[in-house]
Amino acid sequence: MKILKLRKDKLDHFAAVIRQKFGEVHAPVEQNGKYVFQRITDWADARLRYSRTILPLKKYFLPPRDTLFHYSPGKGYVANTRDLEKRMVLFGVHACDVYALGILDLVFNGKYNDPYYQTRRKNIAIIGIDCMPDEHCFCRSMRADFVEEGFDLFLHDLGECYQTAVGTALGDNMVLAAAELFEPITREDFDEYKRLSANKRKAFRLDVEIRDLPEMLDMEYESEIWAELGDKCLSCGSCSMVCPTCYCYDVVDTVELGSTAGSRDRVWDSCLFSTHALVAGGENFREERSSRIKFRYYHKQRGFVAEHGRPSCVGCGRCITACPVGIDIVEVLNRVRGVQYAG
Ligand code: SF4
Ligand code: SF4
Repeated sequence: MKILKLRKDKLDHFAAVIRQKFGEVHAPVEQNGKYVFQRITDWADARLRYSRTILPLKKYFLPPRDTLFHYSPGKGYVANTRDLEKRMVLFGVHACDVYALGILDLVFNGKYNDPYYQTRRKNIAIIGIDCMPDEHCFCRSMRADFVEEGFDLFLHDLGECYQTAVGTALGDNMVLAAAELFEPITREDFDEYKRLSANKRKAFRLDVEIRDLPEMLDMEYESEIWAELGDKCLSCGSCSMVCPTCYCYDVVDTVELGSTAGSRDRVWDSCLFSTHALVAGGENFREERSSRIKFRYYHKQRGFVAEHGRPSCVGCGRCITACPVGIDIVEVLNRVRGVQYAG
């Protein structure tokens, strides 16, 4: 892999080149002490040292409400392609979120091809950045604290400069477009990278062992844990909305008043919602809250492993920070394993 370095005082210049030649730049900005990914018009607003954004990057690839097509008696069905081809660069994406997009690819680029998702994936570039874990991160446990692919460029903060790994031909074009800003990496830079990497490893405060977790979940299928969680859970769906790998959606038709024209939209859904498993005829096969929250855990940590060989959780900690009643995935999984949570 090609690795270069970019001095920090040249980062804004590099961002300007990216914006000029590769599309809109979106990066984390601070809002009331939290972070959101949004379009950057003034680079000074970007915050590359951040914990986690409220919403994950799925909002760019699977928007919360996505009009798939319009229909009318005269024109029939017309696919909505607005903004689908817009070129964008997401600048400052954490490794766990890069990993999460790889998980969504398994779903939308796999057995079921989704042209909307795929077109956006093709047109949105990723510049990753390394980070330090806070008290809710457990990406290391989920093997998502480091990525070898899924980005165009990936930056590691070495203090004075960013070690810059080039992941794709597009990333190489970005570097070449601002070649005068980059320098060769040195032995001393590599030594600093290793020192910081060891520090990061030591900084994790949460740990979940995922080896044999699916088997342990099988053993605990009838556990009282699920009833307890069902009593506590409000079915608000926040944990699904903020999760970078939750992809459930509903499809709704919106018909214009007084007309037979309308649109078909895909909207975010959650398996925690009481109507998620409601089917025609009025049957609801997950009516109990306990069965819904149990389903979320079993799908992410067991069913997805059986289908794709890894859990559909990257340990970003968003669901822990978003849950209004303090349901904590690390505590739950460690309880399933019979491990006392140390806090
Ligand atoms: S389940 Fe929670 S910790 Fe895991 S990826 Fe989703 S939001 Fe992040
Ligand atoms: S955020 Fe918490 S309360 Fe809301 S649905 Fe998820 S687990 Fe239940």
